Amino acid sequence: MITFERALEIALDKAITYGTEAISFEEADGRVLAERVFSDSDIPPFNKSAMDGYACRLEDIPRPMRVIEVIRAGIAPVHRVAEGECSQIMTGAIIPEGADTVIKVEECTVDSDPERGISVQFTGEKTQANICYQGEDLRSGQPVLEPGTLLGTRHVPVLATVGGIFINVYRFPSVGILSTGTELVEPGEKPGISQIRNTNAYQMIAQLAKLGIDSDYFGIAPDNEETTRAMISGALKDNDILILSGGVSMGEFDFVPVVLESLGIHVEYKQLAIQPGKPTLFGTGNGKFVFGLPGNPVSSYFILELLVKPFIYECMGHRWNPPVLRLRAGTRITRKKSTRLSWTPVRIDPEGRVHPVEYHGSAHIFALSSADGIIPVPIGKSIIEEGEFVDVRPI
Ligand code: AMP
Ligand code: MG
Repeated sequence: MITFERALEIALDKAITYGTEAISFEEADGRVLAERVFSDSDIPPFNKSAMDGYACRLEDIPRPMRVIEVIRAGIAPVHRVAEGECSQIMTGAIIPEGADTVIKVEECTVDSDPERGISVQFTGEKTQANICYQGEDLRSGQPVLEPGTLLGTRHVPVLATVGGIFINVYRFPSVGILSTGTELVEPGEKPGISQIRNTNAYQMIAQLAKLGIDSDYFGIAPDNEETTRAMISGALKDNDILILSGGVSMGEFDFVPVVLESLGIHVEYKQLAIQPGKPTLFGTGNGKFVFGLPGNPVSSYFILELLVKPFIYECMGHRWNPPVLRLRAGTRITRKKSTRLSWTPVRIDPEGRVHPVEYHGSAHIFALSSADGIIPVPIGKSIIEEGEFVDVRPI
């Protein structure tokens, strides 16, 4: 038995990437950047008005100023602003030469005189420059995004701004999923005597879809060595990574480790000091990776989140640091044994305090439906006091 931290380290050390491909920036969400992206221009590209108002010289604002031009966004100014003058300007338009300030339209009175033309008087107390200066956000040629960045929707406008419309990203690994267990039927069927519905495959498919991975589902392998071998072998042919559920514990019909070894997959480990999730297997061989997740649904859900997901991100070229919320426990949490790292499903109340949800153990998948996240309780620790900080990992 090895610690979870060691198990994760072993898996991450073995992870490889699967080449890169060029995509449009519009498809960037969820992809990992495989190149450095630079800005192709200064941002903003010119001194730009941050307000609708009048561009003028700060020293002139105590007196009325004559309006010499109207500058719209997208149209370059023609006139230089001289002493006692101003140009009406729209947000996003170029600041005319000579001006160092934009006074807001809300802080002006406008006077129209047939002889003197239109003039403006500043009525505010003081003003800021209200100018976004050329290059203040980015300089031309400056790096904007680093390789390994997990791109989100917030990066789409960044790429658009710098003209990064085609980007190189890492390819997704191909992932196969296979459930084991003679007792399993698919969710659309009514289980007969001693049967249960296959839930693991579907949580896996759903969790992988969130990473952008369209996994390949190979169905249910009955607890029969030959069939299990044939089905695993078939699933491995077409996929880089295979995720199995069930068949790794100590039961007489838990064939997965034996079958994998017979197919040239070396089992790196098959027991972790984690609860739930002790019977977790990781194997490598023939350029393939196999995770054998525990059959119990909560265990397989947690292990996919805690071990498989970081591994897949690593294969996508990204070192994933899962987000955690550091919040105070609103309830005292205790456990009897502390020999394994444990993860407990919790909810967060409206005051931001953390409470365990009703949880009967690793088969109790319903516990997750009211959980906001999971919290770790490290080896050697058996009590979390009320008020103590815990790290909630959202699920
Ligand atoms: P195993 O790891 O094969 O010993 O299975 C442990 C427990 O999880 C047993 O009660 C199985 O019936 C259950 N189980 C195994 N696979 C699944 C699955 N795909 N969906 C739901 N429960 C499962
Ligand atoms: Mg089984």
